Amino acid sequence: MAVVGRSSFLIVCFAAVSTFLLQNMHNHSTMEGIPSGKTRVLDLSYAINDKLVPWPGDEKFFEAKINATVEKNGYFTRSFWMLEHYGTHLDAPAHFPPGKTTVDQIPVKQLFGPAVVMDVRAQSGKDADYQLTAARIEEWEKQNGRIPEGAIVLLRTGWASRWPDVQKYRNQDAQGKMHFPGFSAEGAKLLIGRKVSGLGCDTLSIDYGASSDYAVHHLSLGAGLYHLENLADMSELPETGAFLVVAPIKLEGGSGGPVRVFALLP
Ligand SMILES: [Zn+2]
Repeated sequence: MAVVGRSSFLIVCFAAVSTFLLQNMHNHSTMEGIPSGKTRVLDLSYAINDKLVPWPGDEKFFEAKINATVEKNGYFTRSFWMLEHYGTHLDAPAHFPPGKTTVDQIPVKQLFGPAVVMDVRAQSGKDADYQLTAARIEEWEKQNGRIPEGAIVLLRTGWASRWPDVQKYRNQDAQGKMHFPGFSAEGAKLLIGRKVSGLGCDTLSIDYGASSDYAVHHLSLGAGLYHLENLADMSELPETGAFLVVAPIKLEGGSGGPVRVFALLP
């Protein structure tokens, strides 16, 4: 028994040391593996043009004008105008009270973090008004471990497959109410308690489409988190193990703005 006990102990020690070494090697090599292709990079942002799905009621959302052409001027430039909340964008805390931080003031370290993917495609397929419950988050933690501080929690609803079809993506009823899945207020409270950096979704809003009080916007932006909305197809993301780089426009005083989001897959 004593021999068995000691060898089990050694195996546990070996496993712990190997895990530690592997994790560290993994952390150091994730970025370094990008040029060789060993680390894959997914771009979770849509290209910006005038044909994306705007929020209902937004009549003007994007415009680009050519200022100089190679033929006339010898070089090519354009100017553009767009809403802060259009296409793949970030909501800064200042977007909803009691949030205060504008997009340029978000602490840089909050823009890098492990991706926690909540896959709710099955639930969303059955119920367009599905809201991510605290119980579903706890189930994720049972399988993958506690959500780490600084994580960015992404809701994968499968809604990206409807993009950029305005009718299918907004899914409005006869009264104009939208129907797409989102986070619930109780789920957001749990995630705020885990001290995550941000929430993201592949729909028009972090709150579910039928929301009229935007409870999650008030709660999580009020707690200093940011939101990523209209993220592109996340089907290749693992539920855990990817690392996110979130690069919003540094627009002084902005309530949010267009964002480039990269997922590194080691
Ligand atoms: Zn927004």
